[in-house]
Amino acid sequence: MSKIRVSGFTKESVTDGPGIRAVLFTQGCPHCCPGCHNPSTWNYEGGYEIEVEDIINLIQPNRLLQGLTISGGEPFAQANEAADLAARIQGLGLDVVTYSGYTFEQLVEMGENDPAVRRLLEVTDILIDGGFRLEERDLSLAFRGSRNQRIINLKETLKTGELALLEY
Ligand code: SF4
Repeated sequence: MSKIRVSGFTKESVTDGPGIRAVLFTQGCPHCCPGCHNPSTWNYEGGYEIEVEDIINLIQPNRLLQGLTISGGEPFAQANEAADLAARIQGLGLDVVTYSGYTFEQLVEMGENDPAVRRLLEVTDILIDGGFRLEERDLSLAFRGSRNQRIINLKETLKTGELALLEY
């Protein structure tokens, strides 16, 4: 059984990706972005552990959900466990949005040596990439805090090899 260390879970949100979404906030982040909205998620020893199966049980009964967002902390710090969860979510016919403080290009490079990172990329429908940058903060943006962060249609990008950006 796969367990993820998390800082919290939100049953329904409309601000963490398209549609109505459950949101899982993973615990542990290496990026330490100045101005981070949630520094309590940085500590790898913080939060609590939860079984993937228990997360599925929280999500499955809600027919209004379009999908699950895996936010942070840094989801790719627990790439294997997050990929197990994302694959289960997609198996339910729901979509997966994953946030990362790494850029897409960094993740592709990391994935060359780390199969878990590759797996999580492959079971993510939309990637919102890059850490929060205080100097590019913009409250008018959908789903992001700063202008450097991109909303990437990852399915399309991995299929075509061309970066497919989404506008919201
Ligand atoms: S990647 Fe996200 S959680 Fe981590 S420090 Fe940056 S803004 Fe905070």
